[in-house]
Amino acid sequence: MPVRVSLRARHRNMRMKKMAAPKSSSAEAPSAEALSSRLEELPVGSDRIEELSDTENEYEDIGTITQAEQAHIDYLESVTIPIRDEPETESSKAQREAFEDIRPFLEGNPNDFPLNIFGLPKLQREKHAAFLKSALGDYPSKFAPMDAARPWLLYWSLQGLTALGCDISEYREQVTHTFSMAAYPTGGYGGGYGQYPHLAATYAAVLSLTIVGGTDAYESINRRAMWHFLGQMKQPDGGFTMAPGGEEDIRGAYCGLVVLSLLNLPLSLPPDAPARKHGLTTFLDKLGAWVSSCQTFEGGLSAAPGNEAHGAYAFCGLACLSIMGPPKATLPKHIDLPRLIHWMSYRQCAPEGGYNGRTNKLVDGCYSHWIGGCWALAEAATGRALWNRPALGRYILAAAQFEDGGLVDKPGKRPDGYHSCYNIAGLSHVQHNYVYDEAESGAGSVLLDAPWRWKTQGRYQGDVLWGEDDVVGQVHPIFVTPWGAAEECRKYFEAKEGF
Ligand SMILES: [Zn+2]
Repeated sequence: MPVRVSLRARHRNMRMKKMAAPKSSSAEAPSAEALSSRLEELPVGSDRIEELSDTENEYEDIGTITQAEQAHIDYLESVTIPIRDEPETESSKAQREAFEDIRPFLEGNPNDFPLNIFGLPKLQREKHAAFLKSALGDYPSKFAPMDAARPWLLYWSLQGLTALGCDISEYREQVTHTFSMAAYPTGGYGGGYGQYPHLAATYAAVLSLTIVGGTDAYESINRRAMWHFLGQMKQPDGGFTMAPGGEEDIRGAYCGLVVLSLLNLPLSLPPDAPARKHGLTTFLDKLGAWVSSCQTFEGGLSAAPGNEAHGAYAFCGLACLSIMGPPKATLPKHIDLPRLIHWMSYRQCAPEGGYNGRTNKLVDGCYSHWIGGCWALAEAATGRALWNRPALGRYILAAAQFEDGGLVDKPGKRPDGYHSCYNIAGLSHVQHNYVYDEAESGAGSVLLDAPWRWKTQGRYQGDVLWGEDDVVGQVHPIFVTPWGAAEECRKYFEAKEGF
């Protein structure tokens, strides 16, 4: 008879195998009750995508530990911080409990995945691809609350699939059609059909069209209207709002510049931009200073001045500055880099190896990109990278792969497109090197040309923990699109006269 053990009362001399449990497909519609309680949670904001239903882990004892598992156990002990702060707080208790949930995945192989030569689960490429493809199909009607996230659902799947090496050309026509319906007549894209434009939806829509590529996809974008829409977002203090009359935050600064740069739009503000009445003439006016005002006492960047530093906002801020000019010039000009690097370094959790997004928070696979992706940008400015790539690769392969496909925040959570996309992007950041090179001609233009001066520089050559089969594709460090796709898009619009 199998011995049931609670994860938190795990016996150290046992190997754990996940017990078969009734499976609920991630594509399965939630019950009406669950849906209404979800709806009540919607206003809590950006975390909601991470809070989709959890799974219960139950394990059985399957014998004594193997040599490879002992090596993992020894490694984890070697990187466990020996000193614990007293007294225990809710945060430290949550961290301890989270690690006990994650530990079996870092020590053993509860999902019974095939292992690579380093004794870690192989990248489950086919399973993840199937999961992401399923998100590109139809949704049951009860997914209606996700309607405003339609561009994101497409972007996460398309980006994840291309990084896994899948051909996504079969989706080109569908994606182009979807966004031609979501385009708002006065510029930008709504989350769903008939919805008001929003800069986050616009960013995801433009990136999706960039990924599928081709004349029809590019030409479906109304660039003149987009320029006017972005002009409405630019604020007198230099930042961008996310929507007309909406919140001003650092996502707006990043998303706005991504769209301007990818579509090769004029840097001057349109004549009808309200910020012109305050003396601003270009999209870049006061922007660096505004991003600078988002750096907090901890060193990280927050959504808006006075807020808490957060991994995703840090990426938005650094990527925004890296579009404005060479990171070596723009980052030190607007950011206190030593403090930023200090804060970023402390986001990598030990012994888990993955990242958290804020001080005292739990490790979460999506920050494999949000912080993992900051390093190439910071390194281009400082020449220094103080992160442990193999440790992050270990977390993603061992702890972030869901047994049925898709990637997760942490073991016990269900997979979703968001965590799949950004775990895979994180794995790419771990495996590939990118450098900023002024000599690179990029896409050849002078407007916001810094993003086009990056080049790939081979693979990470340190202590790798992945085999050839576990290597994912290269991802542009600023646009988070397949390497080459952003360049194609920009070149297309550079060759075009006027709008
Ligand atoms: Zn997350």
